Amino acid sequence: MNQQPLQLVTPNPRVRLGQRKVFVLKRAQDVIEAIAWASVVAVVVFFLIDGGIKGVTDLPTALNAISRLTALVGTDLLMIHMLLVARVPWIDKFYGHDKATLAHKKLGKPVLYFIVAHFLASLIQFSITNSQNVIATLVWLITDVQDMLTAVAALTLMILVVVTSLNFARRKMSYEAWFIVHLMSYAAVLLAVPHIFSTGSDIAGKPASTIFWVTLYLFVALNIVWYRAAKPLIRIFGSSMKIANVVRESSDTTSLYLRGKNIDKLGGASGQFYFLRVLTPRRWFKAHPFSLSAAPNNHYMRFTIGNRGDDTAFLQTIKPGTRVAVEGPFGVFTEERRTQEKVVLIASGIGIPPIRALAESMASRPGDITIIYRVRDEEDASLLAEVREIARIRGFRLYVLPGPRASLKSWMNNDGTNNPDLARLAVMAPWISESDVYICGPQIWTELVVSSCTRAGVPADRIHAEEFAW
Ligand SMILES: Cc1cc2nc3c(=O)[nH]c(=O)nc-3n(C[C@H](O)[C@H](O)[C@H](O)COP(=O)(O)OP(=O)(O)OC[C@H]3O[C@@H](n4cnc5c(N)ncnc54)[C@H](O)[C@@H]3O)c2cc1C
Repeated sequence: MNQQPLQLVTPNPRVRLGQRKVFVLKRAQDVIEAIAWASVVAVVVFFLIDGGIKGVTDLPTALNAISRLTALVGTDLLMIHMLLVARVPWIDKFYGHDKATLAHKKLGKPVLYFIVAHFLASLIQFSITNSQNVIATLVWLITDVQDMLTAVAALTLMILVVVTSLNFARRKMSYEAWFIVHLMSYAAVLLAVPHIFSTGSDIAGKPASTIFWVTLYLFVALNIVWYRAAKPLIRIFGSSMKIANVVRESSDTTSLYLRGKNIDKLGGASGQFYFLRVLTPRRWFKAHPFSLSAAPNNHYMRFTIGNRGDDTAFLQTIKPGTRVAVEGPFGVFTEERRTQEKVVLIASGIGIPPIRALAESMASRPGDITIIYRVRDEEDASLLAEVREIARIRGFRLYVLPGPRASLKSWMNNDGTNNPDLARLAVMAPWISESDVYICGPQIWTELVVSSCTRAGVPADRIHAEEFAW
């Protein structure tokens, strides 16, 4: 069990509260979304200025117009799609890494539909004008037309990436296999670039269009190169992080204490997570997300890790001195999103790390914060002793709910009363409707908690949930 003396950071007493934060956040989101839509409108305007559907007189010219328009819109959406997972702070800060990833997933199929429509429209159009069947036309395109071989390869890769993202395929793949396939989307975009500039009739030889597309490509490429590659590498070499201490917290969780140079410059806030990479020959290419389980401080970073699979099993017994890389911070499960004086922190199982860190660093008066911690077994609950100590020192209310759940539809334990969750929640946190609620735990459990909070009158923008899922 944890032998470290409990040293707590001093909470920031000047934390800003109030609904204005929500207003500012929503306006910032509106601006980002307006820019994204404006880029789609811009490419349609380019298409219209360039003749649009004016030249449509028969099927081949109609197919040509469809091919050009779908190419322009599809490529623009593809750039947005890639930016959403580039881990760029100006997106993640306003949406959160999880919402940005969700938007990326939702955009995947429409992007593919546009690109496939572009491909089919071009293929059929050439097939009609060349009076050849589609197979012969495809062979002609690949072998005789400049940059078409790479364009077709790009389309094939894109289809592969989208198919492996569909739920049925994802369930069958390990995270790592899925991740490697996804890296191919960068290759797909690069392979498609030559044909866009050499044969794209709306771009080649059109200065305004060319400037727009070159700027868009460079902007996306620079964001990806800087935030996904260069910055993380600078961090790795600049901080030389190592495992300083490994502390068993329960039968299946372990805390890793990391130390390194410039730890105070890593930034981050309680509730945020980092991608952790063990820098050994067999593991350096795998990065897993873990939340800070202690507030950021100048001495160490701490992650508390549950044994859930191959790599987390390995981390339970990792040797002190092993070099690791941390990439982050990410996520908006932080006090920055808090608007109310009162806060309810709710965790289940291995959802406790970010909740424990938030409890440490949240500004509060005694009684402002309530913690509800759902555990299997009180004797074997990760970080429980620390949570109890924080609650005692800071004057928080703490409810530990051990044992099996009350019913299949309940997120609470069986306390022998048969009282519904909502009634029990009202006793534990009577002011919940005027509170911010932070929830971290398994997906289905989180959904049940969110539903209880909503029924208890907590507005959606005050419910903050972090799910440990990809
Ligand atoms: C934002 C976030 C914060 C997290 N914080 C913590 C934490 O503080 N403590 C903790 O113990 N766990 C945390 N997790 C979960 C942790 O990342 C996974 O348990 C871990 O990656 C599993 O790796 P594995 O190889 O041991 O398991 P696997 O056998 O590969 O998978 C076990 C489970 O983990 C999921 N998983 C695997 N790799 C990843 C990945 N790279 N990203 C997301 N999910 C993955 C799988 O879908 C599966 O459900 C967090 C996850 C996310 C998304």
